[in-house]
Amino acid sequence: MMGSQMIALTDHSNSESEPTGISLSELAQGWAKYWSTPGTPFWWRAAPPASGPWPSLPKSADVVVIGAGFTGLSAALVLTRAGRQVALVDAGAPGFGASTRNGGQVGSGNQKFRVKTLIRMMGERKAIELLREGVEMLDGIEALVKQENIDCSFARCGRFRGAMRPEHYDSMARDMEDLRRYSGVDSFMVARQEQHKEIGTDLFYGGSLVPHDASLHPGRYHSGLLERVIEAGATVHGDAPVRGITTDNSSHIVHFDRAQIRARNILVATNGYTKNVGAFFRKRIVPIRSAQLTTEIIPAQTFARLMPTRRVYGNTNRVFFYFRPAPNENRLIWGGRANHFAKDTALAAYAHLARDVLRTFPALGDVKVAYAWSGLIGYTYDEFPHLGRSPEGIYYAMGYCGTGVSRSTHFGQKIALQMLGNARGRSAFDGLTFPSHVFHTLARPAMPLVEAWYRARDITGL
Ligand SMILES: Cc1cc2nc3c(=O)[nH]c(=O)nc-3n(C[C@H](O)[C@H](O)[C@H](O)COP(=O)(O)OP(=O)(O)OC[C@H]3O[C@@H](n4cnc5c(N)ncnc54)[C@H](O)[C@@H]3O)c2cc1C
Repeated sequence: MMGSQMIALTDHSNSESEPTGISLSELAQGWAKYWSTPGTPFWWRAAPPASGPWPSLPKSADVVVIGAGFTGLSAALVLTRAGRQVALVDAGAPGFGASTRNGGQVGSGNQKFRVKTLIRMMGERKAIELLREGVEMLDGIEALVKQENIDCSFARCGRFRGAMRPEHYDSMARDMEDLRRYSGVDSFMVARQEQHKEIGTDLFYGGSLVPHDASLHPGRYHSGLLERVIEAGATVHGDAPVRGITTDNSSHIVHFDRAQIRARNILVATNGYTKNVGAFFRKRIVPIRSAQLTTEIIPAQTFARLMPTRRVYGNTNRVFFYFRPAPNENRLIWGGRANHFAKDTALAAYAHLARDVLRTFPALGDVKVAYAWSGLIGYTYDEFPHLGRSPEGIYYAMGYCGTGVSRSTHFGQKIALQMLGNARGRSAFDGLTFPSHVFHTLARPAMPLVEAWYRARDITGL
């Protein structure tokens, strides 16, 4: 039971048998015959998604929040505590989207552009504001987790980013210096001859270390937030896909299969899963599939050699991979883009991840893959996240471009405060033009080509 609303949990926690019996080297070679329960995120094992029965949809509400991921939940918490009657709806189970499928790496939201590029694009003053708000996002999620007493293994573990080429090391060093200068983010460089203290691989030409970046268990963070939202008094409705929104002078109507809710305000918090909430959003968000795998438990000695400092890790490629240890367990959690040519329920969709693991840690060939799954990230045409109001007056916060754990929490809070008319809702991201694309229908099918081009540039260094 969560708060006053009863929520049932689906049990995925059978620790005796893990879903696949295939090793990393078999997966890398494309063997797929042992795949039994594909697609289930590892995080659901400790934090199974909530399931119904859900309360019936109300006829009216002050606010309908569409999408029960981190954005929707953090907004609903602020709104409900401010006395608004909130109906939080999701097409699937709350958290079905990226919020319970991600890598749980938490950064300051500054990772998308180099500092110099950001200054060139936005001017120095605006760039500094954006960078500093990024730092606020990281501090904010830590404060929220503490304040709400959410047990999600939040840790300031630090982030190591490996240089894939010698010249990447030098440009990262310059960027880290700029980041310190403009936003006060601490970092240091780790030379190649020193990197074994951080990571047991020879793949990288050294790397950067941001010691205050963090990690958490996204499933438990999500279920903790959900619990607080229900305790605060919002009603949560899973399996309630919105089919459309209409607007008249004074209010909006949210349409479901057999019901509708009239609401003074609506927040669209659907990010990469955006569907049936209007053309304004459809034209601005490009969903991109991203994939993860988790290994079985690796012997402690081997694990300590590979990731002695238990940080979160990434690399400098355009099509990059990222990884980390599981919270309190010696499992490797590895992420990267999905294979666009294979279904996410087919093992082939994850073979390239296994190849990247083995390029980095060749000794792990016999280690079994326990889980593999994917989810959708919401990309924007300018690679900035956006919050604001559509021409129809619908509030939105979305477009985190794959780095959304702290951003979505922060944007959810900000947009809720804006809805309340609270000055604390002001954001450096206010007023950025949210670009659409005339050829938006082609964006999704074009993704494999764009990615292949970037991969080729990663390989050739061009
Ligand atoms: C595989 C993967 C790995 C990632 N790794 C990281 C990471 O390590 N660090 C990081 O910072 N970020 C990461 N991200 C990104 C991060 O998870 C997201 O940016 C963040 O969770 C977005 O939260 P959200 O609440 O906006 O959207 P989501 O959590 O995606 O929720 C959107 C919800 O909207 C619902 N919805 C959509 N349309 C409708 C409709 N018509 N009616 C009702 N409901 C609807 C969906 O069902 C969904 O549940 C990753 C993402 C993926 C997919």
